[in-house]
Amino acid sequence: MADKIKVALNGYGTIGKRVADAVARQDDMALVGIAKTRPDYEAYVAAEKGYDIYAVDAAKAGPVFKEAGLQIAGSNEEMIRKADIVVDATPKGIGAKNKALYEKLGKPAIFEGGEKHELTGISFNAAANFDEAIGKQYVRVVSCNTSALCRLVYAIDSAFGIRHAHVTLVRRAADPDDIKKGPVNAIVPDPITLPSHHGPDVQSVMPHIDIVTAALKVPTTLAHVHSVSISVKGTPLRQDVVDALRKWPRIWLIPPLYGIKSTAGVMELGRVLGRPKGDMMENAVWEESVSVDKNGNISLFQAVHQESDVIPENIDCIRAMTGLAKDKLKSMAKTDRSLGIGTLKPWRDFPPHAEGVEAVTAR
Ligand code: NAP
Repeated sequence: MADKIKVALNGYGTIGKRVADAVARQDDMALVGIAKTRPDYEAYVAAEKGYDIYAVDAAKAGPVFKEAGLQIAGSNEEMIRKADIVVDATPKGIGAKNKALYEKLGKPAIFEGGEKHELTGISFNAAANFDEAIGKQYVRVVSCNTSALCRLVYAIDSAFGIRHAHVTLVRRAADPDDIKKGPVNAIVPDPITLPSHHGPDVQSVMPHIDIVTAALKVPTTLAHVHSVSISVKGTPLRQDVVDALRKWPRIWLIPPLYGIKSTAGVMELGRVLGRPKGDMMENAVWEESVSVDKNGNISLFQAVHQESDVIPENIDCIRAMTGLAKDKLKSMAKTDRSLGIGTLKPWRDFPPHAEGVEAVTAR
């Protein structure tokens, strides 16, 4: 562990458990441990994986863990003391409260998209603004929807220059294990007042992008879908847009011959590929959906797996903040190799993408 960056995970739920597993796969990072408030199945799984478990409110929770037969390595404060950096993946609002502890202990911390931009002053997406996070003490990795939008918007903006973007987000109602949220049988404009907060959230990463968003919540747990309309400078050909997207890591152009027609198919692809937890960490852009009209308006659909697309972004954010990497493409390529993010024939072999991947991995 000596020469590796030591990472502590405070908050071990949907995002925290995935970031912990991803950290454990990096050869330049070591997982100090994970913090839990209670001994549920996640705690037993963490113990099975050999992760040290630290208790939140150890004085109260310690005996409960002991009774459950789980060994506790200490309090979450002790865990944080041992770490070089903390990833706070606690529920929305708790991260903001935890910041005082990180400040007291002098530890850099990453917060997730449920926290406000103002908490850190820097909101992060690896492709769009890796450099801004280099050496910083507090950074927020933007939400699942915003991460996916940033990847797409950055790829299109850097290729053509964006005039204006309008995106309608069809949002999953809840994560698969969240039985308390709905709707069960309705489509809910969320929020009903327009525009939604996702546009300003993209601007927290790329302030110069003119973007307006609207969001609807629907009864599904699998993934979000974005209906994207972007007007660009000039009038690129459809193939130019396809090539521009293919060049970027974490944007997967789903070819028509895969036969994938829905979020169910996208998530089944993650499962049959044997991805950890069946995750799909890339934006899944339906290649057939990409179109450009005579005025340079690009339209497309993309699916976004809310539970996992922010995971590689967290890993790159750790590298940027701790100085493990100064080059975003090198960091992204290393992260993606470690997590099995990549490609499947025939998409992998298309020349623009093959060149893009080589360019990324060679650096
Ligand atoms: P989650 O599934 O509810 O997991 C958070 C976990 O934190 C809980 O399971 C809880 O586990 C633990 N916790 C609660 N209070 C704590 C405390 N005081 N100290 C330490 N741990 C505590 O939440 P999530 O979905 O992973 O979301 C985490 C963050 O990621 C939020 O900011 C969210 O907005 C953001 N995010 C979520 C998604 C998504 O789709 N889920 C996507 C992108 C970003 P125990 O009580 O069992 O220990």
